Amino acid sequence: MKKARYISTEENILIEAKSITPKQYERTYRGKLYCEQEDCDAQLVFNERQKGKFVRYFSTLQGSNHKKGCPNEIKHKKGKKPVLHIGGDDINISESHIQKVLDDAYKTFLNKLYPSKDKTTQMIKRKKKIVSIQDNTLAASIELSGTPVTTGQGKNIIEGKEPFIYKREVAEISSKDINTFKEIHGIIDGIRIYSDEIFLDLKGLDGSKISVYMGTPFRTNFNQEFNLMHYIEIYITKQKEMNFPLICTSVGELSTSNKADIVQIYNYRHFKINRLGFYQIIDAVNQMAQIEFEI
Ligand SMILES: [Zn+2]
Repeated sequence: MKKARYISTEENILIEAKSITPKQYERTYRGKLYCEQEDCDAQLVFNERQKGKFVRYFSTLQGSNHKKGCPNEIKHKKGKKPVLHIGGDDINISESHIQKVLDDAYKTFLNKLYPSKDKTTQMIKRKKKIVSIQDNTLAASIELSGTPVTTGQGKNIIEGKEPFIYKREVAEISSKDINTFKEIHGIIDGIRIYSDEIFLDLKGLDGSKISVYMGTPFRTNFNQEFNLMHYIEIYITKQKEMNFPLICTSVGELSTSNKADIVQIYNYRHFKINRLGFYQIIDAVNQMAQIEFEI
């Protein structure tokens, strides 16, 4: 959404997302923004994303609802599929689909890193069935929906079908992928946690680099998870100490920030490490701590 209603004790005015800064939002508007429709009480949050230049917009606060029939109402399909918001656009990708994409990418990458004889034979057999498709990714697309859909700008959705999300190992990313929505996977190099942004640095098989980026939209919508990210850092450090692999799979928007490639994620569920989700990693860290304590 481009506009929001700002309600304070003195004011009830419409403001535009492009005319406020994150600082102003934090200082003045946070918690006081509502749907622009006067009779709608849905609460809004401010977001910005990088895409060459910043794009600023409002989105509905998690758990807040628009009144029935509000033009800004989140449209749920039959069966109430969750909807993903990217840059203010509603994209019909269910969380379960994203989880499947993340897990598929993990399996594919693990096979690539540690090919076992049996698995290789299996894969060849499978490939033959799907008319000499060389790329697992493409094979997956056919199995999933039959019609690969590029969601670069995020709108052309085929009714009832999940948009196809292309998968890329870090080394496979090309300049064409910038400004598109993709699954990106690689080995974790490290994590950099700052007060307002987090970079989860990935390394490709050829040494190329990209960072899974968590910025303002992530921090705004998932503040608790943002503040718990040091658990992820502990997990990474422990795994590295023991020389265990650290495979990260993520789903987000590719862009460039300060000359470095980033894949911006908008939800803590949109990255996994070694096939573990965010809270599973925290559990693992707590278990590790317990074991150390017992020893
Ligand atoms: Zn509304």
